[in-house]
Amino acid sequence: YEAYGTPVINSKSQLHGVVVVLHDITGLKRLEEIRKDFVANVSHELKTPVTSLKGFAETLLNEPMENQDVQGQFLDIIWKESDRLQDLVSDLLELSRIETHNFQLDLQPIDLLEIGAETERLLSKKAADKSVQFNVSSEGNTEMIGDVARIKQMLLNLLTNAIAYTGEGGKVELNIYEEAEFIVCRVSDTGIGIDENDLPRIFERFYRVDKARSRDLGGTGLGLAIVKHLLEAHEGTIEAESEPNVGTTFTIRLPKEPKGAWATPTKNKAS
Ligand code: ADP
Repeated sequence: YEAYGTPVINSKSQLHGVVVVLHDITGLKRLEEIRKDFVANVSHELKTPVTSLKGFAETLLNEPMENQDVQGQFLDIIWKESDRLQDLVSDLLELSRIETHNFQLDLQPIDLLEIGAETERLLSKKAADKSVQFNVSSEGNTEMIGDVARIKQMLLNLLTNAIAYTGEGGKVELNIYEEAEFIVCRVSDTGIGIDENDLPRIFERFYRVDKARSRDLGGTGLGLAIVKHLLEAHEGTIEAESEPNVGTTFTIRLPKEPKGAWATPTKNKAS
């Protein structure tokens, strides 16, 4: 608590008492902590690939390499690290646009099955490369009003994770169906699963169950935070169920006709 005291003087100029105002600042403190953590996390996440880029570039510059293979390996690392850096920067920009309300949903009649089929085209190679079976299916009506690009991004983030965290021979499924005033998308996998202690935290920015594993798989730690924010903009919800070594299911529910503030133009339209 923060306290402010003000003396109260009566009509005879005598001290009558003191009014103390107690201000609950726990909420503010918590926000300030989250902000500081975020800055520290971003700095760390940026520093790691930059250090590695600099180190490998420096070695290539300073030591003429006779071995073409080693040179190729170093260039490959440089390429991968720059790629990761680019993903991180674009995820950060996307989060910041959403959080500062510097974007607006582009709502149109859409068919979620078409978006699902598009994700299948985009990810089938990634799945096949690691022998993961990836299927998209639907039941009944899958039409709604929504922002194609944003919904595609949410599904891609969930499906990319599902494929990444599922081992060889596993299965990833996207099932789309109607439920009252919602269109539901279920993304389920037969992967490594998430421990119940971690499950409530996976939507936090930069929270990863296994940092090294996520980095190896090319993750930025921001994918689910972006999904959560985009869903809020669509007035949708997300649920996660998981069992370690059995698999994980994410269920998103999107209202067929979103009506909230996000659907109308904001003061600073996205550039
Ligand atoms: P990342 O880029 O690390 O994948 P996300 O925000 O997308 O970041 O996910 C946060 C964390 O949640 C991941 O690091 C991983 O530990 C866990 N996770 C997300 N999806 C799955 C999944 N389908 N199976 C197992 N773990 C998952």
